[in-house]
Amino acid sequence: MKRSKKARQKEYLELELDALARIRCFERDGYKCVVAGCNRTNIQWCHVESRIYKSLQWDFDNNLTMCAGHHLWWHKNLRESGQWFAATYPERDAYLTIRKRMKTKIDRKELLVALRAERNDREFLVQEGL
Ligand SMILES: [Zn+2]
Repeated sequence: MKRSKKARQKEYLELELDALARIRCFERDGYKCVVAGCNRTNIQWCHVESRIYKSLQWDFDNNLTMCAGHHLWWHKNLRESGQWFAATYPERDAYLTIRKRMKTKIDRKELLVALRAERNDREFLVQEGL
Protein backbone atom coordinates (compact mmCIF):
# COMPACT_ATOMS: atom_id res chain seq x y z
CA MET A 1 0.00 0.00 0.00
CA LYS A 2 1.31 3.41 -0.97
CA ARG A 3 1.76 5.72 1.94
CA SER A 4 0.52 9.23 1.73
CA LYS A 5 2.83 12.12 0.96
CA LYS A 6 2.19 13.44 4.46
CA ALA A 7 3.23 10.12 6.04
CA ARG A 8 6.43 10.02 3.99
CA GLN A 9 7.26 13.62 4.89
CA LYS A 10 6.81 12.79 8.57
CA GLU A 11 9.10 9.77 8.19
CA TYR A 12 11.85 11.85 6.52
CA LEU A 13 11.48 14.51 9.16
CA GLU A 14 11.87 11.92 11.93
CA LEU A 15 14.91 10.39 10.22
CA GLU A 16 16.61 13.78 10.14
CA LEU A 17 15.65 14.42 13.78
CA ASP A 18 17.17 11.03 14.68
CA ALA A 19 20.41 11.85 12.84
CA LEU A 20 20.77 15.30 14.40
CA ALA A 21 19.89 14.13 17.93
CA ARG A 22 22.24 11.14 17.64
CA ILE A 23 25.24 13.31 16.65
CA ARG A 24 24.44 15.86 19.37
CA CYS A 25 24.31 13.06 21.96
CA PHE A 26 27.58 11.47 20.75
CA GLU A 27 29.33 14.86 20.82
CA ARG A 28 28.12 15.62 24.37
CA ASP A 29 29.25 12.18 25.58
CA GLY A 30 32.61 12.38 23.76
CA TYR A 31 31.81 9.48 21.40
CA LYS A 32 32.26 7.10 24.37
CA CYS A 33 30.06 4.77 26.35
CA VAL A 34 28.83 6.71 29.40
CA VAL A 35 29.33 3.77 31.75
CA ALA A 36 32.37 4.61 33.89
CA GLY A 37 35.45 2.62 32.96
CA CYS A 38 33.98 1.25 29.73
CA ASN A 39 36.29 1.64 26.76
CA ARG A 40 34.36 -0.28 24.15
CA THR A 41 34.06 1.67 20.91
CA ASN A 42 30.95 0.20 19.27
CA ILE A 43 28.77 3.08 20.43
CA GLN A 44 25.02 3.34 19.94
CA TRP A 45 22.42 6.03 20.47
CA CYS A 46 20.26 4.99 23.43
CA HIS A 47 17.06 6.17 25.04
CA VAL A 48 16.42 6.25 28.77
CA GLU A 49 12.66 6.26 28.29
CA SER A 50 11.52 4.14 25.39
CA ARG A 51 10.84 5.63 21.99
CA ILE A 52 7.16 4.98 22.61
CA TYR A 53 7.34 8.30 24.46
CA LYS A 54 7.50 10.28 21.23
CA SER A 55 7.90 13.57 23.02
CA LEU A 56 11.14 12.28 24.57
CA GLN A 57 12.68 10.55 21.57
CA TRP A 58 14.88 13.51 20.64
CA ASP A 59 15.17 15.02 24.11
CA PHE A 60 18.84 15.63 24.96
CA ASP A 61 18.29 14.44 28.54
CA ASN A 62 16.66 11.24 27.35
CA ASN A 63 19.56 10.32 25.07
CA LEU A 64 22.70 8.43 26.09
CA THR A 65 25.74 7.07 24.30
CA MET A 66 26.45 3.46 25.21
CA CYS A 67 28.43 0.62 23.72
CA ALA A 68 26.36 -2.22 22.26
CA GLY A 69 27.08 -4.37 25.33
CA HIS A 70 25.86 -1.81 27.84
CA HIS A 71 22.88 -0.94 25.63
CA LEU A 72 21.88 -4.61 25.72
CA TRP A 73 22.48 -4.69 29.50
CA TRP A 74 20.19 -1.64 29.76
CA HIS A 75 17.29 -3.36 28.03
CA LYS A 76 17.72 -6.72 29.75
CA ASN A 77 17.93 -5.17 33.24
CA LEU A 78 15.45 -2.30 33.17
CA ARG A 79 15.13 -2.06 36.93
CA GLU A 80 18.87 -2.08 37.55
CA SER A 81 19.66 0.23 34.64
CA GLY A 82 16.93 2.64 35.76
CA GLN A 83 18.50 2.73 39.21
CA TRP A 84 21.94 3.28 37.69
CA PHE A 85 20.60 6.20 35.63
CA ALA A 86 18.87 7.79 38.64
CA ALA A 87 22.07 7.52 40.71
CA THR A 88 24.35 8.75 37.92
CA TYR A 89 22.11 11.54 36.57
CA PRO A 90 19.64 12.48 39.35
CA GLU A 91 18.59 15.78 37.75
CA ARG A 92 17.96 14.25 34.36
CA ASP A 93 16.03 11.41 35.98
CA ALA A 94 13.78 13.86 37.86
CA TYR A 95 13.23 15.89 34.69
CA LEU A 96 12.30 12.80 32.67
CA THR A 97 9.87 11.62 35.34
CA ILE A 98 8.05 14.94 35.10
CA ARG A 99 8.18 15.07 31.30
CA LYS A 100 6.74 11.56 31.06
CA ARG A 101 3.77 12.53 33.22
CA MET A 102 3.14 15.74 31.25
CA LYS A 103 2.86 13.92 27.91
CA THR A 104 3.74 17.14 26.11
CA LYS A 105 3.14 17.22 22.39
CA ILE A 106 6.20 18.23 20.44
CA ASP A 107 6.34 20.24 17.25
CA ARG A 108 8.67 18.18 15.04
CA LYS A 109 9.25 20.96 12.52
CA GLU A 110 10.11 23.44 15.25
CA LEU A 111 12.49 20.94 16.83
CA LEU A 112 14.13 20.28 13.47
CA VAL A 113 14.78 24.00 12.96
CA ALA A 114 16.31 24.22 16.45
CA LEU A 115 18.51 21.14 16.00
CA ARG A 116 19.71 22.31 12.57
CA ALA A 117 20.60 25.73 14.00
CA GLU A 118 22.43 24.11 16.92
CA ARG A 119 24.40 21.90 14.54
CA ASN A 120 25.32 24.91 12.39
CA ASP A 121 26.51 26.78 15.48
CA ARG A 122 28.71 23.85 16.52
CA GLU A 123 30.17 23.54 13.01
CA PHE A 124 30.91 27.28 12.97
CA LEU A 125 32.74 27.05 16.31
CA VAL A 126 34.80 24.11 15.07
CA GLN A 127 35.65 25.89 11.80
CA GLU A 128 36.72 28.99 13.66
CA GLY A 129 38.74 26.92 16.13
CA LEU A 130 36.72 28.23 19.08
ZN1 LIG B 1 29.94 0.30 27.59
